[in-house]
Amino acid sequence: MEASDLFSKYEKDDLELITDQHIRIALDNTRVGFWELDLFTYEMRCTGTCKENVGLTTDSHLDYPTLLSLIHPDDLPQMNESVRNAIENEGQKYQSEYRIVYANSPIRCVKADGIALFENGKAVKMIGTTIDITDRKLIELQKDELINIVNHEVNTPLTSIRGYLKLLARLTAGSANEKVNQVIERTSRSAERLKNIINDYLSISQKTDGWLKHRNQVFRLDELIWEIADNVQTISFTHKIQVGAMPCVWIEGDRQGIGQVLSNLLTNGIKYSPNRNTVDVNLTIYGVMLKVAVRDYGIGIAQKDIKNLFKKSFRVDNGADSEGSGMGLNISEEIVYRHHGQIGVDSREGMGSIFHFSLPFVKLLHS
Ligand code: ADP
Repeated sequence: MEASDLFSKYEKDDLELITDQHIRIALDNTRVGFWELDLFTYEMRCTGTCKENVGLTTDSHLDYPTLLSLIHPDDLPQMNESVRNAIENEGQKYQSEYRIVYANSPIRCVKADGIALFENGKAVKMIGTTIDITDRKLIELQKDELINIVNHEVNTPLTSIRGYLKLLARLTAGSANEKVNQVIERTSRSAERLKNIINDYLSISQKTDGWLKHRNQVFRLDELIWEIADNVQTISFTHKIQVGAMPCVWIEGDRQGIGQVLSNLLTNGIKYSPNRNTVDVNLTIYGVMLKVAVRDYGIGIAQKDIKNLFKKSFRVDNGADSEGSGMGLNISEEIVYRHHGQIGVDSREGMGSIFHFSLPFVKLLHS
């Protein structure tokens, strides 16, 4: 395979149109550096821009040991691994992102791409490019910071507001003042809506990184179900959440993510069963998997809409008086998939719905 075949997204016709001048303009704009590395002598040749990309001047000397010494020690293992992969497997791309720590200069971030060239089945040379991605990384950092601010500075006071509302609801429970009860209920609903919007925003922001952030831990799913059912119960004045008898079961995964899935399904169960008063949650084991089912007795879903339910921003146009972003099920699906599970729904219009998801478990104590 030609090295160019691996990377080129251009058709032959396109390539004929591209002149040297085009290439010069592109190189000036993108500041691409070029390098090659002899795999016998480890002698390295590179262009001026390649040196600039790692913080050196165009006339300085850059050899392979110097390059390795400039790379942040935490980033070296993945870079070495990618080099090894490319050398050992013909046709495997070398791709790496690393930080450059040079003297007193601010840290730079570099993206390197390349390929090993083979002769008689043996890698003899690597060639490739570098670009400076410091600005992009800075923007990503700022975005992460904003997400952290939203997460802590907004979510924390909101959790207190929800807690105080819950207390207020307890203190005034059974009071004859209908108006006060109504105000508390509406405020609680708004706080809950705000919390869901923030959660959706946080999930979407993390999703744009290519993947929702996954925090792995081993935890008891039955305990999490109780916890979330309890949280959702505190803000529902209309429905009782009934949790069935559950086995004591450990799973491995993202506790917060699975909690978000449960919370989405339970709040949907309540939201889309306005004239009913119960939502059931059950946890059962089958084989090596477990199944969580959230059942409501509400408006149900027409057959034609079921296939779209888990799509981004999809909301059924059934005149239901509810607010939402249409993101909850889409995010839930992604979280469940990442845990090697499945999510689905059984529903009939006017007859309620059962949303269920399966997950592999790591340990079952007793039923
Ligand atoms: P949201 O509830 O924020 O609109 P979701 O992604 O959670 O977004 O749900 C997408 C759509 O699926 C909802 O707008 C609603 O039309 C439908 N839906 C979800 N859960 C239920 C349910 N339990 N009963 C009936 N319809 C539902």
